[in-house]
Amino acid sequence: MGNTIQNIAVLTSGGDSPGMNAAIRAAVRTGIYNGLNVFGIYRGYQGMLDDDIVKMESRSVANIIQRGGTILKTARCKDFRTSEGRQRGYDNLKKRNIDGLVIIGGDGSFKGAEIFSKEFDIPCIGIPGTIDKDMAGTDFTIGFDTAVNTAVEAIDKIRDTADAHDRLFVVEVMGRDAGYIALHSGIATGAENILIPETKTNMDELVESLTEKEKRQKLVNLVVVAEGDDFGGGAEVGQILKQKLPNADIRVCILGHIQRGGSPTCLDRLIASRMGYHAVECLVEGRFNVMVGIVNNKMSYLPLSQAVKVKDKFNKDWLKIVKILAS
Ligand code: ADP
Repeated sequence: MGNTIQNIAVLTSGGDSPGMNAAIRAAVRTGIYNGLNVFGIYRGYQGMLDDDIVKMESRSVANIIQRGGTILKTARCKDFRTSEGRQRGYDNLKKRNIDGLVIIGGDGSFKGAEIFSKEFDIPCIGIPGTIDKDMAGTDFTIGFDTAVNTAVEAIDKIRDTADAHDRLFVVEVMGRDAGYIALHSGIATGAENILIPETKTNMDELVESLTEKEKRQKLVNLVVVAEGDDFGGGAEVGQILKQKLPNADIRVCILGHIQRGGSPTCLDRLIASRMGYHAVECLVEGRFNVMVGIVNNKMSYLPLSQAVKVKDKFNKDWLKIVKILAS
């Protein structure tokens, strides 16, 4: 396949994640470097259907590498799930002769992109932007490192107050389907128990381990729970623990959306810049309909059809480590 692409558009879709701006910046500037016209589509597929599309210049992406969120905004779009909706989107692209798309988002956005690329023969390149990290074909997703560092910073602060009052804290972090944020932030903050959706939570075991700790006079007790744990989120876990350990001073803290915001870490800016650059290089070189990833520090290209969420990618040994290190 030769280089036939002249006009490309970039959009951010689905859940937002810190570092998306760095990816937009890289895609826009790499496009311009290659002599392409680059457009930005606001609010993901919704903006494509609503014709909310603007021409981007190098200066349009100035001063954004350090900013969280996405200057293009993001949205979920029901109509893009229908062929009439996608036709409307295609018509709006055709008006500007847009012949290639860069989609920064999660597996849902890639599914939409795959369908769209087949229906209208428009090459689409995916860039994994999700704080959850649970994507096939990449060791990194944009936003995970920032989110997990935000969680660590918050849990460190909770540890201080837990220590001052001899309290047991149940901290809920994000992760509806994946426990990466819980596992990484839990290990990094010395949590004794980490509850994640990938493993079955045994409440009796949890209660026993906390009672044991009471006997060992542990100073700080932290339980980190992923919001999507099979037993429930922080509120449910806290409620049961209060029933089972009536003498303990138990508090629940739900970190929530602070984990999605904030200035991206160096790592997130770096991977976003690399992925943004390579996404456009893919369009230029004719490597179509792939998700750009990084595996063992090398760029990898996974067909969009395989760019799905994967469970159980994490190293099971880590769970063993948690128990030993928190003893
Ligand atoms: P994420 O990309 O973060 O996983 P979603 O799953 O909400 O977020 O997907 C984002 C958008 O992608 C949806 O709002 C929809 O417009 C589009 N999309 C998702 N799945 C499909 C699908 N099966 N067909 C067409 N479009 C889809």
